[in-house]
Amino acid sequence: MWGPGWRDRLWSDLDQDWDVIVIGGGITGAGVFREAVQKKLKVLLVDANDFSFGTSSKSSKMVHGGFRYLKNRQYGVTYEAVCEREWMLKEAPNLVTSLAFAVPDYQAARRVRWEFAAGLVIYDLMALKWAHRKFDRQQLLRLCPQLNPAGLTGGYLYYDAEMDDSRLVLRILQEAIAAGGSALNYASVDALLRDRSGKVHGVRLRDTSGLNDRAQECRASVVINAAGPWSDAVRSQIAAPPRLRKLRGSHLVFCRADFPLQQAVTLVHPSDHRSMFALPWEGVTLIGTTDLDHTVSPSENVFASDQEIEYILQVLNASFPALELGRAQIISTFSGLRPVINTGKPNPSQESRAHVVWDESGLITITGGKLTTFRIMASEALQKAIPYLPTGLEFKLRPPIFDPPPCDFGQANIDAFAAAHLTGRYGCNVEDFLQASLPAELKPIESLPNLWAELRWAARNEGVIHLDDLLLRRVRLGLLLPDGAAAWMDQIKSIIQPELGWDESRWLSEENRYRQVWLSSYSPSPEDTRLQTVCV
Ligand code: FAD
Repeated sequence: MWGPGWRDRLWSDLDQDWDVIVIGGGITGAGVFREAVQKKLKVLLVDANDFSFGTSSKSSKMVHGGFRYLKNRQYGVTYEAVCEREWMLKEAPNLVTSLAFAVPDYQAARRVRWEFAAGLVIYDLMALKWAHRKFDRQQLLRLCPQLNPAGLTGGYLYYDAEMDDSRLVLRILQEAIAAGGSALNYASVDALLRDRSGKVHGVRLRDTSGLNDRAQECRASVVINAAGPWSDAVRSQIAAPPRLRKLRGSHLVFCRADFPLQQAVTLVHPSDHRSMFALPWEGVTLIGTTDLDHTVSPSENVFASDQEIEYILQVLNASFPALELGRAQIISTFSGLRPVINTGKPNPSQESRAHVVWDESGLITITGGKLTTFRIMASEALQKAIPYLPTGLEFKLRPPIFDPPPCDFGQANIDAFAAAHLTGRYGCNVEDFLQASLPAELKPIESLPNLWAELRWAARNEGVIHLDDLLLRRVRLGLLLPDGAAAWMDQIKSIIQPELGWDESRWLSEENRYRQVWLSSYSPSPEDTRLQTVCV
């Protein structure tokens, strides 16, 4: 799939007539790509950075119906997302997993209790299940002993789901590639090609890997702009006026030992009463998110500001005072941009999260929305593209192609937890993964669910160009281990250097580049170093 020489082969193959070119390898682009490939169209997906480099590796990791939208009576939006959540739980088991959310209730809470309880009933009924529960104070404290007990009256428990966002994108890309699609990372669309009538009919690509100096014009019946927060920049090439507002959301990451949680907890910020979440994820605990206007270009380094870190620590300490967590315990941070339609609402959190599809001179833009509803967004984008495509096509919600294979893990001598983890991440390739792995590397990395063998597999098969692709998106050690996994670098090097054929000087430059990316965007005190590594 992404085996040796794949990149050069694909570059030399670009000069052909494509049915569809998709700009952006986040969840939106990946969804469009897979759906178009399933229709037997000739499809090329390109990303200026790594796959899932943008918002799709920096989300809150929830697959959710959006319980809070019920408060605004957005029943249709919630129902759609709840159905998608249920579909993903069924079709991508172990990659998307059910997650309980505790909602503590305090004497001073502003919510109307009967409305909240009714909302939970509606939320469950939408999924045709009855899973929520009401707890008294003692029961809730047993469930979540670290919660602030002062004024706690009880609470509720309901269910949504969580996933590894980058791995979900990768899995969808891989399924589409296996079905005949072509996907290229580090290939930026620098210009849109237009015919005499002004209709967009292709793109000019530039290799942004830093390893080759090459460019290529590619023609297509239709170009789909799935560039997330960069969508306006792509649209500006056809002089379309900006319509998006970019909202930055940041998270802090803590070791599970410091911040132990069995389930997610919904938190209310003490200063502005915004809803936030803390959730267990991949062996660590995440807490976030902020929701702020990001006024500089998304090409600039996106990172959690000092004020955002302080703001998140405030809700953490108000909700879990006994843990006494502060900056010293943060192991990493991350920050993403949410593109929403700019209606000029004074409070960013009031802007609608709904997705939009536009056709401007044959450039189809699909943006907004959320990761959970990627299939719906893909179908709508392709519906809009139908006038430019061969006749007779119809894009409805497709039957899934996620296909968890039966696999015999007995030989591999790994436990059920690791087996589930591998099935979720590698889907149909899990058998190949086991065969390719060295027995000594089928061991967990510290207390994480990841195995050392995943590094070798990713380096060999998952389109890794730079070390940061590997450590921040394929296997997320840069987020999950202290100091960006610096203490484990020798072991990482011994596995991946031979796989990627990097000599000593390439290794050093990759290590340096990774360190800079980590320090500037993912460390506990990220700095604005204006990196050149962001290529858009
Ligand atoms: P992106 O993931 O940003 O992808 C766009 C891609 O386009 C990038 O990889 C970029 O490199 C590429 N690109 C840009 N310009 C060019 C160019 N010129 N040429 C080629 N490529 C280009 N949703 C949920 O369902 N659950 C959640 O828990 C959740 N939490 C969130 C938390 C935060 C803080 C934020 C900000 C969003 C969250 N969302 C969540 C929303 C969800 O993450 C986004 O809707 C989704 O990831 C957007 O994906 P995308 O593919 O549209 O954009």
